Parts: sequence; C-alpha cells; structure tokens
Amino acid sequence: MGNYPPDYCPYCGSELELVEGPTVYRCDACDDFVFHNAVLGSGIVVVDGDRLLLVEDFREAGTWKIPEGVPEIPESPREGVARELEEETGLSVDPDELVYLYDVGKEVDEDMFRMHVYYAVDRSETTGPLEAGSDATDARFWTPREFAESEHVLRDMPNPDETRSWKMGLDVLRDQSKKALRRETRYADLFAPHVK
Ligand SMILES: [Zn+2]
Repeated sequence: MGNYPPDYCPYCGSELELVEGPTVYRCDACDDFVFHNAVLGSGIVVVDGDRLLLVEDFREAGTWKIPEGVPEIPESPREGVARELEEETGLSVDPDELVYLYDVGKEVDEDMFRMHVYYAVDRSETTGPLEAGSDATDARFWTPREFAESEHVLRDMPNPDETRSWKMGLDVLRDQSKKALRRETRYADLFAPHVK
C-alpha cells in the first residue's frame, strides 16, 4: 500500500503543477507548494531464544511476514506497530520497550514510495496469549531452519538492495535483532524526567 502522486491541490482542488519530481508540486491558486511524501510503515521482530515471530498474511495463504502495518494518526511508528502486533498476534507490548533495528525508503511501484522502520523486542516484554488476530490467519514462532524446511514462503521485508533477501537470512534478522536488544539506549530513558 502506498499513495499515488497528487493531481489536485488538497486545499483548493486546483490542478497541481509538478515542480521537482517526485516530491514537489505547486498550486498556482494557493500560491504555495504541495509535497508528495512517502507513506510510512513500521514492523517488529519479536525474538524468543532462537525463534522469531512470523504471521501468515490473510491475503495470501502460505505467505508469512513479520508483524507490520501503517501507523494511524496520531500514532508514532512504534505505537502503530505495537497496535498492529496486538491485532495480528494477540501479544501486547509497551511501545517504549521497542528497540530500533533498521529503516529503509523505497519506490515500491511506479511513483509510489514507502519508508519502513523496523524494531526489535524480546518476547519476555510482551504479554498475552499468542493467537492469530483479525489481520493474520496464523501466528507462530519459528527457527530460521524450521521455516526454511517448511512449505511456506516469506514475504521479503523491504531492504536497500533487491539482490539481498531476508528470506535467505531469517537467522541474520534474528541475530541482529538480539544485538539491537543488547544496546543500552532505551526510548523511555530519553524522555525520563531529569529530576533527582
Ligand atoms: Zn490550492
């Protein structure tokens, strides 16, 4: 899911003129610029020992992905993906416990742009029974080897280079997530009151 470039001004409805593609448009009637920006999505790697959590896409049987979605206004990316995690898997997590993993911007289709930010969290930070929710037909923890030996297919996560595939490297994704979780920076601590 992305958004198409705008043809008309969202403020007055006049036709827009492309000034500098693919981002900058101009509305003569408003005498102002209109910007075409990428849609943001966020995803989460939940790690449990040597396993990581995947959900089966309800749109495509046999195709699995990490829990992800598009944040809703006024959610932050971490708040949005915490909600998606609960909707897809039943697991609740405090958004402040999510640790940054990586981000990427991509043209996913012609003139359609997305950016994604991914987080990691340890299963011990989550609560609730694991069960597939409304946006998934199944949800379970897999070792990379179990998944590779299964009949199932992984929907690749966006990455900067199409020649590299997470499908071949769920073990890399798991191991790098565990490393990210060992970093000492915590989101909640950034905004802790500076009171002693
Ligand atoms: Zn206008």
